[in-house]
Amino acid sequence: MSKKNVTDLKLEGKRVLMRVDFNVPMKNGVITDDNRIREAIPTIKYVIEHKGRAIVFSHLGRIKTEEDKATNSLAPVAKRLEELIGTPVKFVPVTRGKELEDAVNALKDGEILMFENTRFEDLNGKKESGNDPELGAYWASLGDVFVNDAFGTAHRAHASNAGIAANISETAAGFLLEKEIKFIGGAVDNPVRPFVAILGGSKVSDKIGVISSLIEKADKILIGGGMMFTFLKAVGYNVGKSKCEEDKIDLAKELLAKANGKIILPVDTIVTTEFSNDTPFEVVSTNNIKDDRMGLDIGPETLKLFENELATAKTVVWNGPMGVFEFSNYAKGTIGICEALANLKNATTIVGGGDSAAAAIQFGYGAKMSHISTGGGASLEYLEGKVLPGIACVDEK
Ligand code: ADP
Ligand code: MG
Repeated sequence: MSKKNVTDLKLEGKRVLMRVDFNVPMKNGVITDDNRIREAIPTIKYVIEHKGRAIVFSHLGRIKTEEDKATNSLAPVAKRLEELIGTPVKFVPVTRGKELEDAVNALKDGEILMFENTRFEDLNGKKESGNDPELGAYWASLGDVFVNDAFGTAHRAHASNAGIAANISETAAGFLLEKEIKFIGGAVDNPVRPFVAILGGSKVSDKIGVISSLIEKADKILIGGGMMFTFLKAVGYNVGKSKCEEDKIDLAKELLAKANGKIILPVDTIVTTEFSNDTPFEVVSTNNIKDDRMGLDIGPETLKLFENELATAKTVVWNGPMGVFEFSNYAKGTIGICEALANLKNATTIVGGGDSAAAAIQFGYGAKMSHISTGGGASLEYLEGKVLPGIACVDEK
């Protein structure tokens, strides 16, 4: 079964509710990365080109106090959307009431309206984040059909996704959500083999679900990043001052036993004495880490080993940087993996996870991957094989 898509909807003359993820990073009211806005444009364009009346909305940040409203207004986002899409966007600075209803009623075919941050409703008893039934029904009453394109929020059942879907006749996926389902869902449900997973990032505890799920599904699992040291300790190595979760060593042992040789651990690492880019560093074997050293990246032999495992892969999922890529001295492992994935021919390469996606884009490999997920937490939960409420609420075809 596949999900209903925006192209399956009759849009002309319809009020089209569009949940997007415009939770963009901002500094002093200025958007520092507008990628999420750009990613949502194809679906919005499609709706207005087919004479739908687009009612666009999103959450932004967290709203706990009245003061949070001032720094989390979507007004600058509406302005950026207008610039990027080249069509006027009418911004309505409220989340409910007459002003919003009048603006919706005045909307003509092919026009765009955007209303204020859905989480402003959280001040009033967590109505948005708690999926308050009244709020979902109210927003649903403003539209004829619902298009969900907010993958970044798909792991949460909120009033602005699941709540609306429960109260409207038709719910379809936008192009972005569809792409995430195709790539991440495809890799999890039906990967072309060999299927290799690369896992890194900061902690084992953040990724237990993903590791457990991928042990079942992947043919090989390559482990780097901070989490590698908990595994190295589990096989009996000394890890010095490296990041290591003592309370997860037994779990790492269990995972290694369950993986039955599928897990490949680093053979070398770049160590230093402080968590800093300014202290001297050297490459050592992972079975030779001194007490006063910490490993901040995988080493060159490990990179070769990983490249070798990747050479024949047909599906690759990558979650979590190989080292502290924010420091130039410890970015080589992460860049090396980017390079290895970029050079793979006839393989589907998927990057999920906020920091890994940011690293791939920052190092200039964004266009070289088959898919870079727009969801951090959502892509992690999707890779775990969980049912995401924001996907489940979309109608089947
Ligand atoms: P993602 O967002 O891609 O899922 P995580 O949030 O799990 O990734 O982890 C990213 C962080 O892990 C980065 O900030 C990086 O500096 C850190 N990290 C990677 N390797 C190490 C290491 N060896 N020691 C400490 N931190 C590390
Ligand atoms: Mg992260």
